[in-house]
Amino acid sequence: MKNPFDNAMSQLDQAARAGNFGHAFISRMKVPDRDIRISIPVEMDDGSIKIFEGYRVEYNNTLGPYKGGIRYHPDTDINEIKALAFWMTLKCAAAGIPMGGGKGGVTVDPKNLSKGELERLSRGWVRRLADVLGPRKDVPAPDVNTTPEIMAWIADEFEKITGDKTKAVITGKPIDKGGSEGRNTSTAQGAFYVFEKFKKELGLPEKCAVAIQGFGNAGSFAGVVFSRAGHKVVAISDSKGGVYNPLGLDMDKLLEHKKSTGTLSGFSGAKNISNMELLEIECDLLIPAALENQINETNAEKIKAKVVLELANGPTTPEADEILFKRDVPIVPDILVNSGGVIVSYFEWEQNLKKEHWSEKEVFDKLKKMLEENSEKILKKSKELKTTFRMSTFIVALERIEEKMI
Ligand code: GLU
Repeated sequence: MKNPFDNAMSQLDQAARAGNFGHAFISRMKVPDRDIRISIPVEMDDGSIKIFEGYRVEYNNTLGPYKGGIRYHPDTDINEIKALAFWMTLKCAAAGIPMGGGKGGVTVDPKNLSKGELERLSRGWVRRLADVLGPRKDVPAPDVNTTPEIMAWIADEFEKITGDKTKAVITGKPIDKGGSEGRNTSTAQGAFYVFEKFKKELGLPEKCAVAIQGFGNAGSFAGVVFSRAGHKVVAISDSKGGVYNPLGLDMDKLLEHKKSTGTLSGFSGAKNISNMELLEIECDLLIPAALENQINETNAEKIKAKVVLELANGPTTPEADEILFKRDVPIVPDILVNSGGVIVSYFEWEQNLKKEHWSEKEVFDKLKKMLEENSEKILKKSKELKTTFRMSTFIVALERIEEKMI
């Protein structure tokens, strides 16, 4: 399987062919401004020192400070972080926010660390990078396996090192530590606003059967948001596997079950399924909300969903894109669908800098308006250029960056 950065670059080449961009501009977009690799020594609870490999890729800051999350995952490497930083650049541009794109990470399975070890690792990450981060330079946030608590440690360590008290160096913080109302649920909530805008266009029924791969921040809240709106969540999974019930899963009870047993499997009335089986389930809407490359040339023919709504970053490979296109299965792309997260991050950054605190209603009203406008623009562009939603989103984003760069 190709690495995510190769996939991202093949999407960029496709957009370059479909749009009208300068050659030099496209070449420029193929390389990050800088990619930084760091070693983080961490004192483990048994007194030993373990060295972890960490990253920050600052991809492009034409539109504003580098922006993007930090991922803790055993399979994370520089190519994944580069791809994610590239997608962040386009995501912020498509969202119409004054932010560039970046991404960070550490190769680690955080489930194997104690809380103290996790804190020392997170503080170590920011100590190595304090000179490149900052509210006007580079603003990280949560991503896979990183939480508001981790953001608070990083904000605190940065303040200790630099004296900056704005807290605007990082977003996704807990509310009482400078976080924004609504940030925790904003990725899933944003996906729902985009879905509502696309629903009619895609010929989807009023109430959809929905399958969700992933039970992290994005996937679990998506389950709640879609089922509260009256849709039927028929399947959902975490990294170990999932559950399926064609009659619909009770999300509140499922959340309780996961909390008390630590797993989704064994949920009453539901059948246990694997993550791969989940993707091939009969449903209206498939929401990949986990990792990259899940929908690929090995399973794209077997996808039975009418529409794919990408909540994860990079869940569909370019090969699968082509197969699904030929099969008339539209894909609403990641950089639009999951942009609610970074949009509310931008709101958090703005509130920190202005020393304001907005209500959840204010946050979601603004988010909804922005995502509705962005969705309309992308729908219109797709019709104009007779191209996929992914390509029209890429083109809208690239046009904004090229214009500013010139
Ligand atoms: N990690 C999220 C993403 O991939 C959020 C980034 C942010 O809020 O800066 O979009």
